[in-house]
Amino acid sequence: MEHRSETLDPAEWGPLRDLARRIVDDAVDYTRDLRDRPVWQDMPPEVRAHFRSPAPQEGQPLGEVYDEMALNMLPYPMGNIHPRFWMWYMGASNFTGALGDFLAAILGSNLGGGDHAAAEIDRQVVNWLKEMMGYPEEASGTLVSGGSMANLVGLTVARNRMSGIDLRELGVAGLKAPLRFYGSDQIHSCHQKAVEVMGLGNRALRRVPSDKECRMDITALRRAIIQDRTNGLDPACVIATAGTVNTGAIDDLEGIADLCAEEGLWLHVDGCIGALLAIAPKGRALVRGIARADSIALDPHKWLHAPFEVGCALVRDASAHHDTFAVTPEYLQNAGRGIASGAWLHDYGLQTSRGFRALKVWMSLKEHGVAKFGRLIDQDLAHARYLTERIVATPRLEMCFPTLINIVCFRYDPGGLSEDMLKTLNVEIMVRMQEAGIAAVSDTTVHGRHCLRAAINNHRTTRGDLDVLVEEVVRVGGCLSGEGFCRALG
Ligand SMILES: *Cc1c(COP(=O)(O)O)cnc(C)c1O
Repeated sequence: MEHRSETLDPAEWGPLRDLARRIVDDAVDYTRDLRDRPVWQDMPPEVRAHFRSPAPQEGQPLGEVYDEMALNMLPYPMGNIHPRFWMWYMGASNFTGALGDFLAAILGSNLGGGDHAAAEIDRQVVNWLKEMMGYPEEASGTLVSGGSMANLVGLTVARNRMSGIDLRELGVAGLKAPLRFYGSDQIHSCHQKAVEVMGLGNRALRRVPSDKECRMDITALRRAIIQDRTNGLDPACVIATAGTVNTGAIDDLEGIADLCAEEGLWLHVDGCIGALLAIAPKGRALVRGIARADSIALDPHKWLHAPFEVGCALVRDASAHHDTFAVTPEYLQNAGRGIASGAWLHDYGLQTSRGFRALKVWMSLKEHGVAKFGRLIDQDLAHARYLTERIVATPRLEMCFPTLINIVCFRYDPGGLSEDMLKTLNVEIMVRMQEAGIAAVSDTTVHGRHCLRAAINNHRTTRGDLDVLVEEVVRVGGCLSGEGFCRALG
């Protein structure tokens, strides 16, 4: 008898084909009918219990696995692909991107490098993103898991290049003086993690005060640099933010670029939110000067709506980038021809094995074109202006901060409440809207005032959805503050 080895492939392909078709059909319906479902709903305990069982030692038919998933997972998503989800700063995904992830997994290729078509696509997507930023062809870049990793890549190149020593060999212990990085007090939390893992410590990241518009105060920045030099520290890099999480504020990129040029500092732009404004016909003026940065972090899973995850680090000086990460062990030598020929993509970041995250971006860019993504960004900006107008025109709603891009900070204020009580009231409004599955906004505190925050980064949102938000905040707020008629209020 012939020896039969085991495999993960099915014994027969027919039933798998039928099931796969059903899964795709369901996925199309799920995406089409998003609007009819709640943004979010709480999982009942019996559903949660499904996810707490031990690892299955024996298998079961794939059809059963899928049915269990369809029943227990699909109805309970985070909600960010829904037209009325505006929490934090997410993307709304897209079906083409999901097909891209599926096909990438079918291919199963490792984008650590090698000579194959997927590697060409990975490079092409990086090149397209360079083009969108106005970066020169010689610049380099790499696709990573998201903005946090993209920032870490850029800052690590900055650290090594600015250290003036062979930092890879000597480590931070070999620094002549402690390096300093600068960002505004609105900087994203990932930068703190970055300076910590880079061995510089949180104190190496100096938070420069922001002005009334939440933009980095350049005079204060200049003063901080001079003061640090006087104190024997080594100013290395300014992290300008193009689109802060709280309010969407965009630091004065031209002004900071000038200062960095004068002082000989590395300019890194955290463009996870706003860098892609560069492709928007109306929005692009907001990020003028971004291409002057030495490195840029951006996030295709935000304003390009790629399914999670995909971020991108771009570095103007390709050799500084390569010199920061390239290591060639004996088992990863290049060959002149064949699969192991061509440059290693893992020489530009921390990962060795890399997924084919480029494909989802590549497919949606080919399908829709850069111009449409630019128009969608402008549409989000217009939506934010519309929501702002509605809030200004609605009694008991007040803006907490002027709308700069697509982030709207506002609150319900019935009058006569303390700041603490206003916060409690608004948090309750936010949570009740989520629990009712109607709309999802998050909250933050700007200049000491607590507010609700809608980040409209969603290609499915319509003006009608924003009307629903305004009406619900007023209705729930009215009920909670003891006015109005409480219809079906949980
Ligand atoms: C989202 C964001 C990040 C982090 O990006 P991830 O993709 O979540 O890792 C960094 N900076 C800013 C300004 C962001 O908005």
